[in-house]
Amino acid sequence: MGDGIDEARAGRRDEAVRAAVEQGLLGPGVPLVGLLDVAGIRESAAELRAAFDAVVAPGTPVLHAFAVKATPLVPVLRLLREAGIGAEVASAGELALARAAGLPPALTVLDSPAKTPAELREALALGIAVNVDNPQELDRVDGLMRSATSRSPLGIRVNPQVGAGSIEALSTATATSKFGVALRDEGAREWVVRAYAERPWLSRLHAHTGSQGVPLSLMAQGIAETYALAEEINRRIGRQQIDTIDIGGGLPVNFSSDVTTPTYAQYARLLSEAVPGLFAGRYGLVTEFGRSLLAKHGTVVARVEYAKSAGGRPVAVTHAGVQVATRTVYAPGAWPLRIAGYDDKGRPKEGPAVVQDVAGPACFAGDLLARGCRLPLLGQGDYAAALDTGAYYFAHHYGYNSLARPGIYGFAPDGAGGVAFATVREPQTAEEIVAESGGAHAAALTTLPTSGRR
Ligand SMILES: *Cc1c(COP(=O)(O)O)cnc(C)c1O
Repeated sequence: MGDGIDEARAGRRDEAVRAAVEQGLLGPGVPLVGLLDVAGIRESAAELRAAFDAVVAPGTPVLHAFAVKATPLVPVLRLLREAGIGAEVASAGELALARAAGLPPALTVLDSPAKTPAELREALALGIAVNVDNPQELDRVDGLMRSATSRSPLGIRVNPQVGAGSIEALSTATATSKFGVALRDEGAREWVVRAYAERPWLSRLHAHTGSQGVPLSLMAQGIAETYALAEEINRRIGRQQIDTIDIGGGLPVNFSSDVTTPTYAQYARLLSEAVPGLFAGRYGLVTEFGRSLLAKHGTVVARVEYAKSAGGRPVAVTHAGVQVATRTVYAPGAWPLRIAGYDDKGRPKEGPAVVQDVAGPACFAGDLLARGCRLPLLGQGDYAAALDTGAYYFAHHYGYNSLARPGIYGFAPDGAGGVAFATVREPQTAEEIVAESGGAHAAALTTLPTSGRR
């Protein structure tokens, strides 16, 4: 079923690259852009909602809260909100983005392992759902709940400690993870049960155990254990105090082809088999998907400034490197990206596949977008596109070499056979780089008293 949809998405991407060159969004003077497929984002949002609607009991309240950190762009949050998706935020900045996008408190969830008293106070005043990370944070929330009433749904984040996936840095459910209350630690489960028994206002339970590299079965196991804990707490308290389970996000993304796998429908079905009680209607549901909603809808396109050869290996030197693909450049084994080649008119590049490196513009040898990848030989003036980069890539600029943040444009069919673009984020200017780099304080250090002079 998904095949046609995946092919259509690849077709839209090719059209968008050609149109971006034609319309001058991309060219010798603007050698780097990020492109977002608006129709694709809408499709994924609809697939997510349909997947869970198909497995929950009729009338079950379900909030899908997009993990803002995956693509922290206000127009994207607004688009998702229009598609029925809320926001999961984990900092004052992300909360500000969600509010700027018009997300109401009822569609917003605050998680973060390091919430300050001010952040907690603001969230409770706004009525935003909060998942408490640890006992010290619960003390702070106790204090706030004593001094004011709040409409915020409140819960505790637990770590079922079911184990790691293939990428250690992204595995949230290891024995020693920094997130949530480690359930299998001595006394922890009892502490959690007591915390709920003593606080009738704790009505949610939260776990986020998945991520790239974590097998679905392990994610399901983490959710099954979270569900079992909710059941135990309610049983021991003697009423349905926990009324909502937040199952987190973390569905992995296929970065090796255009195929969407796993799908939301597969995951929802797996959960309904592994944890049937979760969907029986006794619990409302919150999800927090990030990468899987946006990754396949973003493309970073960079002009080949120079095409050279070193030690017999062709190297295309482009404008996309560590500043837009930080994880790939620093951890290429864990985060390989597919590269598509386009000619100077933005048409798919043809010709025999040649093993080549695609390099970025930064001044260190490891700044490679792809090593030894096979595609038609890229020449000067061609374009290299890094695919599936809609989450955790070009929206996550890294300021190495003071390389400018690229402009980001959403695209959609214009209704007349062409492609229409909308600015999502302006490209950063040199003036902005100077301003953000202490430009207003140029003399700050030379006017401090020098040591020795008293
Ligand atoms: C990062 C994060 C998510 C989203 O994870 P993805 O892998 O992008 O789906 C959801 N919930 C929490 C608490 C997170 O930290």
